[in-house]
Amino acid sequence: MIDTRTTPAADVLQLIGNTPLIRLKGPSEATGCEILAKCEFMNPGGSVKDRAALFIVEDAEARGALEPGGVVVEGTAGNTGIGLAVVCNAKGYRTIIVMPETQSREKMDTLRALGAELVLVPAAPYSNPNHFVHTSRRIAEETPGALWADQFDNTANRFAHIRTTAAEIWAQTGGKLHGFTCAVGTGGTLAGTGLGLKEHSPDITIALTDPYGAALYNYYAHGELRAEGSSVAEGIGQGRITANLEGAPVDAQFRISDAEGVQWVHRLMMEEGLCLGLSSGINVAGAVALARELGPGKTVVTMLCDSGLRYLSTLFNPEWCKTKDLPAPPWLEAVA
Ligand code: PMP
Repeated sequence: MIDTRTTPAADVLQLIGNTPLIRLKGPSEATGCEILAKCEFMNPGGSVKDRAALFIVEDAEARGALEPGGVVVEGTAGNTGIGLAVVCNAKGYRTIIVMPETQSREKMDTLRALGAELVLVPAAPYSNPNHFVHTSRRIAEETPGALWADQFDNTANRFAHIRTTAAEIWAQTGGKLHGFTCAVGTGGTLAGTGLGLKEHSPDITIALTDPYGAALYNYYAHGELRAEGSSVAEGIGQGRITANLEGAPVDAQFRISDAEGVQWVHRLMMEEGLCLGLSSGINVAGAVALARELGPGKTVVTMLCDSGLRYLSTLFNPEWCKTKDLPAPPWLEAVA
């Protein structure tokens, strides 16, 4: 892998991954631990999902499932679609992206700007045939030369994190880490990073950080897939064991409310200059919970999945926060 800080990158694909690891001052001071986080918002498509997008496309090319002039179809909360559009533009493929209409305006506008063909569908449960995942599969089946990326059950997704995220975290901490935690959308990040880190050291504690409205906390705590409550966090919250989650080495689990995640989003913005989405705030709350469980002096790593700039119309819009019963950024309320 080339070091793009000292050598020019040959293309945008070489800018994917190799993200910096940053020490989070507030969370570290609050726990007496070192809480470190991967700056995934620095990927060219602006999120952690660029890694999976690249591996899914290159795996399909290697299998002969995607040929020159082909089209990649995917159902996504948005970030995987953006990652796929970046990768496909650089490689000469088209993209068709199916997304629930409840996701942020910024992600839709970004997909349109990238030239992706955007198909918006009403939000529906997974059991509904019109759910965005099933809709995307049908479109792929009906489109000549199409690859269905299938991020939930295509394990090229988690392989990206075994190969890149886990390897980077191991190298960047010099192997001195005691825990890793993050939330789950597809499960690629948690399972892949968990499996990769365990290959280096089985003693590293891998923890799930689940939002409300997802079923995994109860699954790992009590063996039962059962959701309670709800969350407005985009890109996370899973109700089933995807192929990417199969065999994930989960040692502990935490459940984090939106209010707690939002609090960290606000603090990290105003105290550390980090502009983040809600899944990042929830991940940081999970890292704090894991650090408290492991005890002072330990090192815990988590993920800063995407930027708050993707949520200016929601998380950083006091009117929207009011409609969702969430605390608005106090510094914005003052001027609203
Ligand atoms: N946070 C955000 C903002 C995301 O878009 C996603 C991907 N859906 C995740 C976290 C979770 O990543 P994964 O799919 O690897 O579980």
